[in-house]
Amino acid sequence: MSRIHLMDEILSNKIAAGEVVEKCVSVVKELVENSIDAKATNIKIELIESGTQEIKVVDNGIGMDKEDALLAFQRHATSKLRDEDDLYRIDTLGFRGEALPSIASVSMITIKTCSENLGTLVNIEGGKITEVGTCEARKGTTIEVKKLFYNTPARLKHLGSLNNELTNIIDYVNKIALSYPDIKFTLTNNGKIILNTPGDNNLLKVINAIYGTDVARNMLPLEASNDDYEISGYISKPIISRATRTHLITIVNGRVVKNNELNKTIIEAYHTYIMENRFPIVVLNITVDSSLIDVNIHPTKMDIKFSKMDGLKETIKNAVHNTLVSINLIQKVEHPKPEISMADIVISNNQIQQELNLERYEETIPFNDEFIVKEETNITYGNTNKEVETLEENESEKIPELYVAGVVFATYIVCQNNLGMYLIDQHAAKERINYELFLNKLSNPDNNSIDMLFPITIELPLNESIILKEHLHILANMNIKVEEFGMNSFVVKSHPVWLPKGNEENAIRRIIDLILDIKNDFSLEKFNDRVAATLACKASIKANDTLSLEEMENLIDDLRKCKNPYNCPHGRPTIIKFTKYEIEKMFKRVV
Ligand code: ZN
Ligand code: ZN
Repeated sequence: MSRIHLMDEILSNKIAAGEVVEKCVSVVKELVENSIDAKATNIKIELIESGTQEIKVVDNGIGMDKEDALLAFQRHATSKLRDEDDLYRIDTLGFRGEALPSIASVSMITIKTCSENLGTLVNIEGGKITEVGTCEARKGTTIEVKKLFYNTPARLKHLGSLNNELTNIIDYVNKIALSYPDIKFTLTNNGKIILNTPGDNNLLKVINAIYGTDVARNMLPLEASNDDYEISGYISKPIISRATRTHLITIVNGRVVKNNELNKTIIEAYHTYIMENRFPIVVLNITVDSSLIDVNIHPTKMDIKFSKMDGLKETIKNAVHNTLVSINLIQKVEHPKPEISMADIVISNNQIQQELNLERYEETIPFNDEFIVKEETNITYGNTNKEVETLEENESEKIPELYVAGVVFATYIVCQNNLGMYLIDQHAAKERINYELFLNKLSNPDNNSIDMLFPITIELPLNESIILKEHLHILANMNIKVEEFGMNSFVVKSHPVWLPKGNEENAIRRIIDLILDIKNDFSLEKFNDRVAATLACKASIKANDTLSLEEMENLIDDLRKCKNPYNCPHGRPTIIKFTKYEIEKMFKRVV
């Protein structure tokens, strides 16, 4: 190749680098995906200063011979097979095959690789090969990328803060580790271990490595399928929740994808199990014939379209719902555990939040305890599995037999059995009972209505009366008979039998309020849900209402019959358990 030609090439690589390589994570991605292509089962990613000084990826894959090693860093290298699978994984890196030369053009690279018996060493500086030699013959490839953008100061300025670069990399490596539980991933920054997965094809262990034992032992396995899709994975119990939906992870045929509709489906399945604006941790593997998906290749994100989406959504929703319904979800109070050594925390939450624009952060970056590093992750794996097993053993019964022991703060019913002590929030419990009752009545309307002894007259401003007139059929379906009475007045003549006694007028007015609040995306199902939740709250005994022993016992019996007895319609807990063991531990009767 002539010198001038070479300079041209370096220049065009540098230009391409601007489009292809933006952040340290782009480099990590390219190198890690090359390692996966090379059939590595062990991939180590070592960063110095969040990758800004050095990114080193060591794998035990098939390696390259000298010719391939040199070719890999030239533009339009064709050594790599461009099959469908390759196209499928073009997610953030533009066109694969161009990324390595681009990275090389804006950094200093050392490659050590060995395919058979001979190790090859190549040094590249700013796109120019400065050394080609031999090195020790260790199976696999090691690539060190140093001083990214050292020769393009304008690009260098675009790198985020150290924490920003690091969180992007952690987010990426977490997802790739979840996608490939059969590969052992190790991620370090300045010598500190951030992630260390076992690579033994156990997804729960990867979840444990990323989120810690507390999350892992609160994950429920899930499996489902229909004619087209196979789904497996783990969903968190409602007590584990996060402020963002970042941890709803869907992996399709081995690749993490982003699909808002699937996320919405998962969130809907958790409806009332989890507080509003809180989100579960979910890792779902979806296997499907590739002819049923359409991958939209966009430089910055990976979106995907599914054929037979409705069937897929239904299957996921049912699977999540059935998993939650099948298990005892009474929240347990546990004696505080020994603190995890603070030295292990790589980045504290405060630090991150100070440094990052919060909005962007909420969208893309995991936070909270995910940054807690567990160096001895191996030890926790055993415990995790054991605890998950024992939890499942005695969780067949939703609400066990309980004996009322008293009431505290005129709000919480204290109960006991031989397993522990329970507190039941009387308002939340009654709210749940009424909510399920009303929702059932609303979803299966009968014709039982009562004429009102004193019809209620409702007067509305003209604009609102127009809205109400448009929606009178909704009231009619509910067996609320309303007649227009002059310009902007209405008379309510009858109502369904199930409306809370003594509170009928109030209930009707609230239903009308909800009708006036109807938005364009009206769905009867969601409307009924709002009506049931609103009426349930108003109809239920309050904190500070005094109940007789019999009323308390009836309340517990009714709660036990609920589909989800653990949460009020707003996701707050109805019942909390202190196990006998935990109580004895607190009193030092057991150690
Ligand atoms: Zn309430
Ligand atoms: Zn509530």
